[in-house]
Amino acid sequence: MKKHNFNSGPSILPQTVLEQAAQAIMEFNNTGLSLLEIGHRTTYFMEALAEARALVRELMDLDDSYEVLFLHGGATTQFMQVPMNLLDTNETAAYCDNGIWGNKALKEASLFGNVNVVASSKDKNHTYINKGFDIPADAKYLHITTNNTVEGTQWHHIPDTNVPIVADMSSDIFSRPLDYKKFALIYAGAQKNMGAAGVNLVVVKKDILGKITRPIPSIMDYAKHIAADSLMNTPPVFAVYVALLTLRWIKAEGGLEEMGKRNLEKSNLLYQTLDSLPIFTPTVAKEDRSQMNAVFVLTNPAHEAPFLELCKERGMVGVKGYRTVGGIRVSMYNALALESVQIFCDLMHEFAASVS
Ligand code: PMP
Repeated sequence: MKKHNFNSGPSILPQTVLEQAAQAIMEFNNTGLSLLEIGHRTTYFMEALAEARALVRELMDLDDSYEVLFLHGGATTQFMQVPMNLLDTNETAAYCDNGIWGNKALKEASLFGNVNVVASSKDKNHTYINKGFDIPADAKYLHITTNNTVEGTQWHHIPDTNVPIVADMSSDIFSRPLDYKKFALIYAGAQKNMGAAGVNLVVVKKDILGKITRPIPSIMDYAKHIAADSLMNTPPVFAVYVALLTLRWIKAEGGLEEMGKRNLEKSNLLYQTLDSLPIFTPTVAKEDRSQMNAVFVLTNPAHEAPFLELCKERGMVGVKGYRTVGGIRVSMYNALALESVQIFCDLMHEFAASVS
């Protein structure tokens, strides 16, 4: 039976990317060796890394005042690495508290300097995105999570401010066109829209670096990674290569305009279905709904288990909500076909008819 992969991450990747990655493990670029067996300083790998970095810059339409790095770890590493590089002990950073991940980020930042929570949606269980809040002009940076993977909210308007914006884009990276020049630093774990777990993308405007007094361990220092062309030590070669394949796929499919169009179409279909069936209740404010992760509950909680069972029977994978939140979460990343969303919506109708 065909599986429909709604996993929240690691999650669905384009079939061609999986095939090319499998091929590279068997033999990479006619070298007679696996990608996993060649040195990271060989021309082959260095070319792959350079192409991946260039594609990021091209897709985001950024000039060379920005640097693109592929660094070890997950987004959680960046929760620490960002303040370690940008925030001195006596300085203050502004953080938006809009969900589980942003909250973890601000807690890590408080180990390095002062954190000013300038906006929080905690009062309504993080079911909306704050608007019209003040950002103190002297904040070192403003941190937002552009897509809240667990709660299902997304920033559809990036704040206008002179304070440098740092964004965790782990769950909506490369999903839509945006003015990426509005950001001073973007980070994302790769395992949703960009590839395999184990690597972080970090895009950083160079002029925000070098402004703190704290000594930074080399492996944590963005400036040292830039000086070493993102090759300070052995990078996670496989994850970098899968990111390259995914970036090539995004470009070949039509870039971020096309990704944005597809993601809007998929999420519109899902939310229209949700709104039309009273047995389901959306939990998120309409204007802040995520195009990546749709979160909702069964209006009658007793319907949840049979609905999940039906999803399982029909090959729908990963639709159970986050472990501490419950309910339903349907993740619709770039590689998910409209067809899968259509089949899921048909199943929602079928289930609604069966219980009414
Ligand atoms: N930020 C966001 C928005 C996420 O969705 C996740 C993981 N789902 C993380 C951070 C943590 O990422 P990692 O597990 O790669 O550290």
